[in-house]
Amino acid sequence: MASAPRFIADHNVGKLAKWLRMMGYDTLFFSGREDSGMVATALAEDRVILTRDTEIIKRRLATSGQLRVILLDTEQPEQQMCQVIQALKLNSRFRPFSLCLECNRPLEERTVEQVKGRVPPYVLKTKDQYMECPACGRIYWRGTHWQRMNQKLDRLAQC
Ligand SMILES: [Zn+2]
Repeated sequence: MASAPRFIADHNVGKLAKWLRMMGYDTLFFSGREDSGMVATALAEDRVILTRDTEIIKRRLATSGQLRVILLDTEQPEQQMCQVIQALKLNSRFRPFSLCLECNRPLEERTVEQVKGRVPPYVLKTKDQYMECPACGRIYWRGTHWQRMNQKLDRLAQC
C-alpha cells in the first residue's frame, strides 16, 4: 500500500493545514515569502504543495512531474478542502485527532493525573481521556470544540 500523502500548505491556504492535521495528514504550513523554500522542502520531504499561486505550477519541476502541486481553484476554504480530498482520494477520518493542530506533531496520551491543574476543573471532572502535544504542550480532550471538529470531518467525508 502506498504511504499516505504528506503536504505543505502555502501561506495563502493556511486553513487547509489545520484541517488536514485534523484528519491526520502530516502537513507543514509555509509562512515564508520565497516560494523556492517551499519547493525545496516539498522535494526533499516528498510533500504535495497546496497553493493558490499560479506561478508555482509553471515551474519546470512542476510541469515535469517531479514536484506535486495542487492549485486550489477557489477562495472558499471548505471547497478547497474538497478539491484536495477528491484529487488524492483522501479519507477524512484517516487518523482523526492524532496530530497537534498548531504544530503538526503526533499527540501523546495523558492520564487525568498528568493533566491535573492544566485543564479547567470542570473538564477534569467529566473527561478521562487526554492527549498532549509534546512540542507545544497543548492539551486536547473531547469537549465541545472536539465535537465541532468531528462534525467538520463528517461534512468533509461528503466531498
Ligand atoms: Zn503542538
